[in-house]
Amino acid sequence: MLGKIVIANRGEIALRILRACRELGIQAVAVHSDADRDLKHVRLADESVCIGPPPSKDSYLNIPAIISAAEVTDSVAIHPGYGFLSENADFAERVVESGFIFIGPKPETIRIMGDKVAAIKAMKEAGVPCVPGSDGPLGDDKQENLRIAKEIGYPIIIKASGGGGGRGMRVVHTEAALLNSITMTQTEAGAAFGNSVVYMEKFLENPRHIEFQVLADKHGNAIHLGERDCSTQRRHQKVVEEAPAPGITDEQRAFVGERCVQACKDIAYEGAGTFEFLYENDEFYFIEMNTRVQVEHPVTEMITGVDIVKEQLRIAAGEKLSVTQEEVTFTGHALECRLNAEDSKTFLPSPGKITNLHVPGGAGVRVETHIYNGYVVPPYYDSMIGKLITHGEDRDSAIARMRMALHELVIEGIRCNKELLQDIINDAAFQAGSQNIHYLEKKLGL
Ligand code: ADP
Repeated sequence: MLGKIVIANRGEIALRILRACRELGIQAVAVHSDADRDLKHVRLADESVCIGPPPSKDSYLNIPAIISAAEVTDSVAIHPGYGFLSENADFAERVVESGFIFIGPKPETIRIMGDKVAAIKAMKEAGVPCVPGSDGPLGDDKQENLRIAKEIGYPIIIKASGGGGGRGMRVVHTEAALLNSITMTQTEAGAAFGNSVVYMEKFLENPRHIEFQVLADKHGNAIHLGERDCSTQRRHQKVVEEAPAPGITDEQRAFVGERCVQACKDIAYEGAGTFEFLYENDEFYFIEMNTRVQVEHPVTEMITGVDIVKEQLRIAAGEKLSVTQEEVTFTGHALECRLNAEDSKTFLPSPGKITNLHVPGGAGVRVETHIYNGYVVPPYYDSMIGKLITHGEDRDSAIARMRMALHELVIEGIRCNKELLQDIINDAAFQAGSQNIHYLEKKLGL
């Protein structure tokens, strides 16, 4: 097993990784900004190193500072968590070149998957179903671009190959708007991502967001852990996630899951990863792969019993996956609500001191959070302060437990989105299952 690792992240995921290290007997080093000295995992870690001032660009995105923290603490590996540098191929490369293990896939894999055109090509070759589209980057030939769009059929979406975080996309409804929209997206993408390559896809009007979790080791073994439904979103940000996805059959799960596993083998994938799909009219369409652990990984853990973060650590240490595909079983249903320090109605961030905190509990309730009584939520970072996860024998019982958990939760001193989460959980439409990605924004009247 790994001796000592650096956790290059903050908040709940840093604590989650620390706990996995503890279980496996790995020593953990917390790196943190000046604003994060009081983070729970910093206090619990074996060692901690301050890597810079509060702004992320000077600390959690500061590559030399993170690498030197690994050097001075004699660590052997770096876990990037999610967000920050987790999908930065240059960072992974620097980590490896400096003699450390990057807990994630190889830098070249991150690079391919970060380039959407290259990722889609690799997925197509592995038999993963993709959205009908331009089959590669758009060229300068205007007539040809008009022809491709006509063939796909309007509405279409123009996407930046280097895009991410919901940016670098433009929907086009009519032929008259096409050429202008291509030029604008190219210009914006060049400025925002340093890569002006764009491609075209059919724009799906009312899809669900369904993603498959995979794990692959360095010995050529790969498995999938089924799917999650993350359709409850606002501004492309997931709010509530669940597993399994309502209404997906065992046959569909096996079919798409096997294609994802094949894709992992084809690209010699290593680590945990997620294949994201849009799902409409009973069809899955690949949109992108995330080459890291995801916020919503616990719902998969709850229904499979597989500890995804421990598997990441084992894979990085060169061990084989601890389960085979045949051993993976799905039990019951799990939900996750993301708790944000923000107003339930205006969505304005609400940093500040937590003056009173009561965390829910009971059977089938799991809470992943770094906050505690007296903790001050800093204004510099993402507003997510934790996740409530419930598991039950079926979807209704997971919902009932979530209703209870939300009711029990008390956070005072700052505002949080508890009311919004309660509105969703108590909504008849949500309870009926299988809402599409526009459900929440429509409900909010946006
Ligand atoms: P990013 O890397 O920025 O997250 P994605 O490719 O994952 O970009 O797309 C983000 C979101 O944009 C999707 O979850 C979906 O809501 C919307 N989207 C992307 N492609 C399409 C499409 N072909 N049709 C409809 N919506 C799409």
